[in-house]
Amino acid sequence: MEKESIYGLTREQLGAQFLEWGEKKFRADQVWQWLYRKRVSSFQEMTNLSDALRQRMEEHFTFSPLKEVVVQRAEDKTTKFLFQLEDDSMIETVLMYHNYGLSVCVTTQLGCNIGCKFCASGLLPKQRDLTTGEITAQIMYIQRYLDQRGEGEKVSHIVVMGIGEPFDNYENVMRFIRIVNDDKGLAIGARHMTVSTSGLAPKIREFAREGIQVNLAVSLHASNNDVRSSMMRINRKYPMEELFDAIYEYTRLTNRRVTFEHIMIDGVNDSPDNAQELADLLQPMRKLAYVNLIPYNPVPENPYRRSKPEAITQFFDILMQNNINCVVRKEFGTEIEAACGQLRSQYERKRRQRVSG
Ligand code: SAH
Ligand code: SF4
Repeated sequence: MEKESIYGLTREQLGAQFLEWGEKKFRADQVWQWLYRKRVSSFQEMTNLSDALRQRMEEHFTFSPLKEVVVQRAEDKTTKFLFQLEDDSMIETVLMYHNYGLSVCVTTQLGCNIGCKFCASGLLPKQRDLTTGEITAQIMYIQRYLDQRGEGEKVSHIVVMGIGEPFDNYENVMRFIRIVNDDKGLAIGARHMTVSTSGLAPKIREFAREGIQVNLAVSLHASNNDVRSSMMRINRKYPMEELFDAIYEYTRLTNRRVTFEHIMIDGVNDSPDNAQELADLLQPMRKLAYVNLIPYNPVPENPYRRSKPEAITQFFDILMQNNINCVVRKEFGTEIEAACGQLRSQYERKRRQRVSG
């Protein structure tokens, strides 16, 4: 049997495992302290546990499943990590410095089967879901990186916006959220976490019923079905009517705001008519809708180009005139290819070239 990473268990699951082993359940709280507060990197360091228990944990679990391949730090401090997993595949994780704190963008799948045409991740079909341990370990690796820098910095925010569709790996992503949210561990506030989905309507309904305060972001990217379907084939499965039904159910049940991501692609979704159509679409939920306009990051493999700055400004103005909350997203570390999937695909390209050359 393959060993599971210790970072893949909730405190309750670890407690249950300890009971099964005839140990006291509170030992799980002690382990939690070592893992998430003292942030040790081996079971042997957990000195208030018996030798026998440490031994047993070592036989049963692994620690971090990540091996660092590349770390790139940009001028604005955005730091990109490329990791190798135990099966040799690669994932990337990004650390960003905001004025309100430090956020980490995590990857949830190897590749992505949603296959949006504009996305670098969609070029690599899904090989598998990441395990909960592989997702949590991304945060822990970066927190330890920050610990070593000795400036007392802490990951305060998480965005589930790296490669992969989080709602296509729902159980593992939700368990990850509960682990990092645990107040005896990292205690990252639910309101400081955002999950972004391409629009898996049934999962949005399920998410609405989780009873947690995690933020929801929806990759809308278009103001009508024709444009959306031309870029995102998921829109054929869950067209905008169905997507918005699910979103309305979410807002009804949670009364929480929803972020709508809208990448700005030249000549595709960025006309003044598109802006007006989007404003009309969001008007009924105006108080809870926030639009993020994202300047498109071109991917060499597709024909899409970034909107002209004037088009972005005009689009923004039209939304504002219609009283729709809207921001143009700041870009991070563009010189290190911080956009989702880009470092990895660049690296994989080089690796392929090396192999074939
Ligand atoms: N699969 C999820 C989360 C990962 S993608 C989703 O699609 O929402 C995170 C965000 O980055 C999405 O809004 C996605 O549409 C956007 N994105 C993908 N490729 C991009 C690119 N080249 N430039 C800008 N944004 C991009
Ligand atoms: Fe997958 Fe999101 Fe990229 Fe679409 S935008 S291919 S859902 S990662």
